[in-house]
Amino acid sequence: MRAIVTGANRGIGLALVTALAARGDRVTGTARGPNPPRVPGVTWRQVDVTDPTGLAALAAKDSAPLDLLVCNAGVLLDRTTGPLADRWAATLAVNVTGVALTVEAMLPALRTAKGKIAIISSKMGSSTLAPGGHYLYRASKAAALNLGRNLAADLARDGISVGVYHPGWVQTDMGSAGADIAPPESATGLIACFDALSLATSGCFQNWEGEALPF
Ligand code: NDP
Repeated sequence: MRAIVTGANRGIGLALVTALAARGDRVTGTARGPNPPRVPGVTWRQVDVTDPTGLAALAAKDSAPLDLLVCNAGVLLDRTTGPLADRWAATLAVNVTGVALTVEAMLPALRTAKGKIAIISSKMGSSTLAPGGHYLYRASKAAALNLGRNLAADLARDGISVGVYHPGWVQTDMGSAGADIAPPESATGLIACFDALSLATSGCFQNWEGEALPF
């Protein structure tokens, strides 16, 4: 199987490429900076998901049939400093536009393989579970969920299935050391979800254990 994971130089993305390569998949990890970590079996491309030119270069280099695209790159800027309007723009650029641009760039390769798209959103993107707070992040992840469900409707005719996932509360720079689970545990669960994704379940919103979440 051939897979691409965005934002794979640390956190959940790094755990995903490590686990996928360990089981023998052909894996490309993307990192926006130089010097990604060495992971056996992983090919690296330098890509900022907000940059269409960089994504076009990725699509040109990785044009072979693509079985799995994981849109994992994300930011949480609610508690950072800086002008609020800038933080809104940056959050939406990465968490929403970045997903849409990545999918758009990789569609030809996905179509050839009748592949799968996994969007790493968050439980915090549920509009049913809306306890308040973290408006930037919640709104962006809700939009990513909405995007995934509409892509599922449109891409079914191409044989492409789309799943939207909550990875758990994970011990990463974003999730903090006090989070519930370690990245490898999240990655193992998510990969089982990706494997189970089909046209019959396309448009699903699940946690890393495969449990359905409210939209
Ligand atoms: P981290 O902050 O640990 O890692 C985020 C990754 O995204 C990094 O590789 C980062 O690259 C990359 N990234 C950010 N912006 C861009 C960009 N413009 N272009 C390319 N890559 C970018 O986060 P996690 O691993 O915890 O999160 C991964 C995904 O899971 C995110 O979508 C997040 O929202 C989601 N999630 C995480 C949860 C958690 O508890 N950790 C809970 C729910 C959802 P760089 O190193 O260059 O900054």
